[in-house]
Amino acid sequence: MAIISPVTEENICIEELKEFAGQSRPGVFMLRLDLIHPIISGNKWFKLRYNIAAAAGEGKQSILSFGGAYSNHLIACAAAAHAAGFSSVGMVKGLYAKETLTHVLQQCKLYGMELEFVSNEEYALKNDPDYRHKLQTKYPDSFIIPEGGANEAGRKGAAEIAHFIPADFTHILLSLGTGTTFAGLRNALPIQQHLLGFAPMKGGIYLRQEVEQQLQKNQNYNWAISDRFHFGGFGKMKPELAVFMQQFQEKYNFELDRVYTGKMMFGLQELLSEKALPEDSKILCIHTGGLTGN
Ligand SMILES: *Cc1c(COP(=O)(O)O)cnc(C)c1O
Repeated sequence: MAIISPVTEENICIEELKEFAGQSRPGVFMLRLDLIHPIISGNKWFKLRYNIAAAAGEGKQSILSFGGAYSNHLIACAAAAHAAGFSSVGMVKGLYAKETLTHVLQQCKLYGMELEFVSNEEYALKNDPDYRHKLQTKYPDSFIIPEGGANEAGRKGAAEIAHFIPADFTHILLSLGTGTTFAGLRNALPIQQHLLGFAPMKGGIYLRQEVEQQLQKNQNYNWAISDRFHFGGFGKMKPELAVFMQQFQEKYNFELDRVYTGKMMFGLQELLSEKALPEDSKILCIHTGGLTGN
């Protein structure tokens, strides 16, 4: 079994978003982690790397993980497992997802992922120790990765994103799903750099507690999470967001994803127009990928 390689500078870049900032600031930039790989893009490569390595270390043959029918994590798992010579199993939320496979699930299958559809009630047990034990008994050759890669190995991988963030940026912006990337990055970023999190779901501020539990004591500063820009909830779209994303793409010649980074960048635009960030802040937005979901 192979492991997936570390990300190097060649795979990514930092792009200035010239028209975004207004005049007087040091500027707004984007860290293009979406360029890493067409499928295992953005933060997913980082979160999966040490999980795949752990699976290889334990001599497992297969990767098992969890996700919804539009899950960027699940498709990244399928592709990473395939690339590293593992088979894979996807536990998919919702029995109805079986009827018409989404594009994401079709692609999972193309990477050889075996899909098991479970009811919402069963899916809710995904982190329950007894349920895990049952799954492990059913799939003894599988290494189980939690939904969103939300474990120590996932955070360790996410911490490596900090290597690509130059020290002169004062504010780093990141979208959250499980908060795994956020926690991993806060633990690794120099403490003076502010980490601002955008939760794309209604009630997403519950992620504050999730993240706080994963932070080292000396790193529990200079971070904030807001769910103000949820646009009606997780995966929900509004016309003004669609227009914004379209205009963004025309200006900068690359896409944002509709679930995470589109909402984050809309939010940043609002914050800038409200002058909610200091004039002299140098802002780095992290493009966490996810374009397979578009
Ligand atoms: C998965 C994903 C996230 C969320 O990452 P977490 O580590 O679960 O918080 C953010 N942005 C994109 C584009 C994603 O695909």
